[in-house]
Amino acid sequence: DSVVHWFKCDLRTKDNKSLHLASEKAKEMGVPLIAMYIVSPQDFEAHLTAPVRVDFILRTLEVLKADLARLDIPLYIETVEKRKKIPARILELLGEWGASHLFANVEYEVDELRREASLVRACLERGIAMDVVPDTCVVSPGELASGTGNQYAVYSPWFRAWVAYIHKHAEILNLFDAPAKNPESARRKFEKLFDSMIPSAPVNKQLTEEEKKRFRSMWPPGEHEAHERLKRFCDIRIGEYSELRNFPAKGAPSSLSVHLASGTLSSRTCVRTARDHNTTKKLDGGIQGIQTWISEVAWRDFYKHVMAHWPYVCMNTPFKPEYTNIEWEYNDEQFKAWCEGKTGYPIVDAAMRQLNYCGYMHNRCRMIVGSFLAKHLLLDWRMGEKYFMEHLIDGDFASNNGGWGFCASTGVDPQPYFRIFNPLLQSEKFDAAGDYIRKWVPELEGIQGNSIHDPYGRGKGNEAKKKGYPRRIVDHKEGRDRALARYKEGLGRA
Ligand code: FAD
Repeated sequence: DSVVHWFKCDLRTKDNKSLHLASEKAKEMGVPLIAMYIVSPQDFEAHLTAPVRVDFILRTLEVLKADLARLDIPLYIETVEKRKKIPARILELLGEWGASHLFANVEYEVDELRREASLVRACLERGIAMDVVPDTCVVSPGELASGTGNQYAVYSPWFRAWVAYIHKHAEILNLFDAPAKNPESARRKFEKLFDSMIPSAPVNKQLTEEEKKRFRSMWPPGEHEAHERLKRFCDIRIGEYSELRNFPAKGAPSSLSVHLASGTLSSRTCVRTARDHNTTKKLDGGIQGIQTWISEVAWRDFYKHVMAHWPYVCMNTPFKPEYTNIEWEYNDEQFKAWCEGKTGYPIVDAAMRQLNYCGYMHNRCRMIVGSFLAKHLLLDWRMGEKYFMEHLIDGDFASNNGGWGFCASTGVDPQPYFRIFNPLLQSEKFDAAGDYIRKWVPELEGIQGNSIHDPYGRGKGNEAKKKGYPRRIVDHKEGRDRALARYKEGLGRA
């Protein structure tokens, strides 16, 4: 007999609701707890999971496996090539292990919800209880409704309701204990499961040796690292977060997104830890940096609520249907220049090169390059959304889709389409000294003063030209005017 927890995007032992409940159930029944992770190359493919993210997940599994082994809990890992076969294979395994209960944390993406629903039914037919519990959000989708009883489509009122809900139900910030140690007999009984190997990445998700080395030193895996990062951030930097967070050269953000996306850290732990650092011991009031950071973590919840309520956003459809008719440009050359950071707009290029080198990009810059792609280049925002997923170590469908919707004005935010970021002004405002640009665009390293933001326009362009830095692929005003006209036209057709 046994109880099983199925790990997905929750690769941690601490504050993991499903794992905790599974452990309690196993204890109550006096049977061992088995943990399982299914590697699905087709899921990686279908979700456009970046190779750097796949590598991070596989490295995290090593840490998790060792942590669980210390508790005599096996982490059984198996690759199932065809994603459709996953439920059937899980049922087989449950049968082999004599499992009476299967626990998992719910994922709100459409495919995952469907898969889980069918698995719950199939388990039931075999007399196995499957519990799929909400865990990834601090406040679960469905808990917050506006005065009219509907899902909020605007962040600010939603956020006020989110804060009020947490203050009212303070227990939702209680953290779940790590699982208890298995009885010793479990190790003997399930010896073989402890030996299951962590596979190498599927062929099309492999990194080069140089990339492996680079990403491994940049992004150490596992929940211990996540907790240390969170602690360091809350002890040292969170106080300055609200003043510095928009300046990409200042390194103010926590860089915890990679851990939230893989589930090596729970959003509950983040909010709880930040709150406990606040003088008010609340989500609001007290230290400004803490309030602001919590409100950013809340954005992650917000976009998951949006996705859970309007699942069509998972199907390549803009949140605002009236934006379906915009006629996008599909200019491959310009898209390539954007991807490679060769647009001639230094701030855009610096940001894209940061993404390509680190698998991460600063939030302000994500907005700048997103807006530039959708507005100035008038490229289909879904091309940018896809490129981000294929390269981000923190790729998360709901946040990425929400972010792209914001940039292209096709999303949930009420921002009108005619508010278009001016990349030059953004650059001057948020990277005034040009430090971020110089770091990522070596061709412009030697340029001093204001010309760094516009080397051909303001500067004489000699230095940039000598170093092979490209001229602008689109003029700001022309790009802007074309976007305004095209959006208007598209809306007219709606
Ligand atoms: P911090 O500033 O320290 O914030 C803490 C946490 O709050 C983040 O880790 C993240 O979980 C959450 N958060 C902060 N800002 C946002 C936001 N705007 N939306 C949702 N959650 C937020 N975030 C992802 O996690 N995955 C993505 O794939 C992703 N794609 C994006 C695409 C675009 C076009 C845009 C504009 C934003 C995107 N974001 C995404 C949101 C945001 O840029 C990142 O979460 C943030 O930059 C991560 O860095 P950090 O952990 O240092 O953030």
